[in-house]
Amino acid sequence: MTRKMTSNAAALEATYGAHNYAPLPVVLVRADGTHVWDEQGKQYIDMLGAYSAVSHGHCHPRLVAALIDQAGRMDVISRAFLSDRLGEFLELACRMTGMARALPMNTGAEAVETALKAARKWAYTVKGVADDAAEIIVCEGNFHGRTIAITGFSSTDQYRAGFGPFPSGFKAVPFGDAAALDAAITSNTAAFLVEPIQGEGGVVVPPDGYLAKCAEICRDNNVLLMCDEIQTGLGRTGRLLASDHEGVKPDGLMLGKALGGGLVPVSMFLARDDVMDVFTPGDHGSTFGGYPLGAAVGYEALKVLEDDALVERSDRLGKYLLGKLSGLNHSAIRDVRGRGLLVGVEFDTAQYSASDICHELMHKGVLCKDTLRNTVRFAPPFIIEESEIDQAVAALSGVLTKLAA
Ligand SMILES: *Cc1c(COP(=O)(O)O)cnc(C)c1O
Repeated sequence: MTRKMTSNAAALEATYGAHNYAPLPVVLVRADGTHVWDEQGKQYIDMLGAYSAVSHGHCHPRLVAALIDQAGRMDVISRAFLSDRLGEFLELACRMTGMARALPMNTGAEAVETALKAARKWAYTVKGVADDAAEIIVCEGNFHGRTIAITGFSSTDQYRAGFGPFPSGFKAVPFGDAAALDAAITSNTAAFLVEPIQGEGGVVVPPDGYLAKCAEICRDNNVLLMCDEIQTGLGRTGRLLASDHEGVKPDGLMLGKALGGGLVPVSMFLARDDVMDVFTPGDHGSTFGGYPLGAAVGYEALKVLEDDALVERSDRLGKYLLGKLSGLNHSAIRDVRGRGLLVGVEFDTAQYSASDICHELMHKGVLCKDTLRNTVRFAPPFIIEESEIDQAVAALSGVLTKLAA
């Protein structure tokens, strides 16, 4: 399929769009597998994978086929009626993650909001917390989305500035410090909301044993462990769930991003029975949540992960990527960290900004994006080849040499 060249696309976005993003100056027109192409036909390796939403590879043929097939049969019907697609999708998601029940939404932020509502109502109706007294503990450096409630407990000033007032009932503890969680829990604590690895926070990997210790503390205090695996889940860190690395089974789990196969926004809150049971008809919902198109693509996205052993691939290629990046000996690199195909390279701020590095990488045909802590995040599709990783790492090495000169 060809499309008219859109050389004024950037200008139109700048004129008619809100300026809530600062994109790299590249207008993409096509994507396939691990590659994307700009208006001039220049090819790039996609090392960002849409912030982990593209794990299967761009326009995966089985996912595109599932999308087209379903789009020709039935679109959105709302949850006022049942569809033939939702049940099998929820069943597969529950079987793969070991959770009892799932509630489908669209964006990650909505899955997190769902978890927060479930935790609060569970505190009042099951745990016996007094009305409006429930607390939820979060981590400093967290990223859980962009709604008012969620940004209200962000520790990133810009995410909050100008958007208050915020809902109360949240308190933050340092990430990676299980003793701090223990000390912060009171009889009113409903849940502990945590990312097993902080993605937007700069690919921050907590100390070994942290999540397992948190799970134990939560269990001992009748507090729900809610893992936000919207970015780390579905194989991104080399296991189906990042919590699997520590043998932890959360009480509540949020999935999103790659759950829609890179094609449609699909997210979900999964939980054990007594947590999901707090929802009764009318309590919560979403017009598009679990709609047939999302369910059909989400089902196929999970199937492809299994059929193509993509989680194992993420583990293997992730180790390769981490090894290659760790081998880059340059004084500007302060740290290389990550798990599976979620890797961050932190730069010495005194020397380079991660954003400058991303601009230079773009010129060399490699796309990625900086995140907090002056870190460049690499989160390519799992179908990436070793040779493509070599290419991307060589480009980074070339950029560092050029900048040093
Ligand atoms: C991206 C992300 C979200 C928010 O997802 P959206 O689809 O952008 O709303 C929430 N939590 C984590 C850990 C994320 O990485």
